[in-house]
Amino acid sequence: MFTIKGKTGDWELVIGLETHIEVLSESKLFSGASADYNPTVSPNTQVSMVDVAMPGMLPVINKYCVDQAIKMGLGLNAEISRHSRFARKQYFYPDLPQGYQISQPADEAPVVGRGWVEIMGDDGNPKKILIERAHLEQDAGKLKHDVHPTKSFADYNRTGVALLEIVTYLNTKDPENNSYISSPDEAERYLREIREIARALGVSKANMEEGSMRADVNVSVRPVGSSEFRTRTETKNMVSFKFIKSAIEYEARRQIEIYENGGTVSQDTMRYNQGEGTTSVMRSKEDALDYRYFPDPDLLPLEISDEQIERIRRTMPELPSATRARYTAEFGLSEYDAARLTENTDISHWFDSAVNGKAQNAKPIANWMISELFAHPENWDVKNEKSGIVDDMRIITPCDLRELVEMIAENTVNGKQAKEIFIKMLDGESGSPREIADKFGMKQMTDTGAIEAIVDEVIAANPSQVEQYKSGKVGLLGFFVGNVMKKTGGTANPAVVNEILRGKLA
Ligand code: ADP
Ligand code: MG
Repeated sequence: MFTIKGKTGDWELVIGLETHIEVLSESKLFSGASADYNPTVSPNTQVSMVDVAMPGMLPVINKYCVDQAIKMGLGLNAEISRHSRFARKQYFYPDLPQGYQISQPADEAPVVGRGWVEIMGDDGNPKKILIERAHLEQDAGKLKHDVHPTKSFADYNRTGVALLEIVTYLNTKDPENNSYISSPDEAERYLREIREIARALGVSKANMEEGSMRADVNVSVRPVGSSEFRTRTETKNMVSFKFIKSAIEYEARRQIEIYENGGTVSQDTMRYNQGEGTTSVMRSKEDALDYRYFPDPDLLPLEISDEQIERIRRTMPELPSATRARYTAEFGLSEYDAARLTENTDISHWFDSAVNGKAQNAKPIANWMISELFAHPENWDVKNEKSGIVDDMRIITPCDLRELVEMIAENTVNGKQAKEIFIKMLDGESGSPREIADKFGMKQMTDTGAIEAIVDEVIAANPSQVEQYKSGKVGLLGFFVGNVMKKTGGTANPAVVNEILRGKLA
């Protein structure tokens, strides 16, 4: 368990995330204006009368966005509500001309109810993170304060674009049936999992850098072993994994210090200060009451049929948790390896096409990917927030790696030579691994007669080591293997060398 040491003892963290993902759809949640508001689009060119609340304009629900919410709900293993409603949430700010945000009320069933996602917990085992709800709501526009010295400008292109807010669950009434995020790393893995599910389903680009995924971070602390949950704070609008982890840690330490000095934490809404890595109070927490949810009289209740859900269920692709289960069960990979290879759908697709159904290749391919490919960001930057990972994979292809692994398995090259071929490929050497091996004369020496001759030479040249070995210092085997390998220019098959040496030295 992740804990933080305080002056009075160890503290554990309780974390709840409210994650907004922007729903991929051609048009906005309640209007026909384009929802693709990317930065190259001129301000206020994708705005309908509905978005800017012209009198008499009526919102109409975009059924595709509802389908997207259902799809994500199924991806979160969640209940889909057959009936839910939209309400107006009081919101008075110039980026939303309606004066309210159309959302789904907090005290009523939203379109997506209870569910869970599976992540790798800090102990390396799968862990379920419970989901309380996910609801559809409108995004606001963007204000620009840096265009003119005395004026602010509003761009309403984003106004009314559909968001799905996914909220994790904390079961305060039944702590036995609770499973929540309890460390900064788990928070990151949860968000990555949400991102991958959303991307695999085509529900959202879920890209924090572009703002199509943002999170509010709720944090509280309690002494290890305590059963009560304490007051939480909420840090708003976080848009990077790194800042989220830093905000959680800072906020937890701040709260611990307050408790250890005899104070109490108040339920505030915080902002994160990127420069300093600190949080500070933005406002005291408002209650649902302050939002004065008001049923939207312009919108019909949202009715979803079983047929609609089944139709969507049939289109669902394999999701990361199922992929991980397949990797551990069919390929015998560890939970850790399976988790690494499903951090990103592009990675798991890459791995699957490298394995190409040959289970015996899975483990070596996984090893090469995790220890070599991931270590070479020039080939494949898995830490890269941007989604263009497949485009970055031009240098080494799944086919290349499969061929390389097969060459080792069939003793065409040894591990050291394979590594050299790998580096050459990274450096842009053209041709397949076999072609590169031929070109550079990299062939594993498998002729046992030739290896034997070299073994004999090495034994003859090192009589005192031979004596020591025979009198019990068997650790010297490595010394002999090393010498034989050196004499063969690293081309001998190490397993064969080992075997011959053992026999001759016995
Ligand atoms: P609100 O409606 O005020 O935003 P919610 O009850 O919806 O509050 O909770 C928001 C998030 O905060 C949820 O993810 C929830 O699990 C989390 N949360 C609730 N209580 C705590 C607590 N004591 N410590 C940490 N997180 C909490
Ligand atoms: Mg909330």
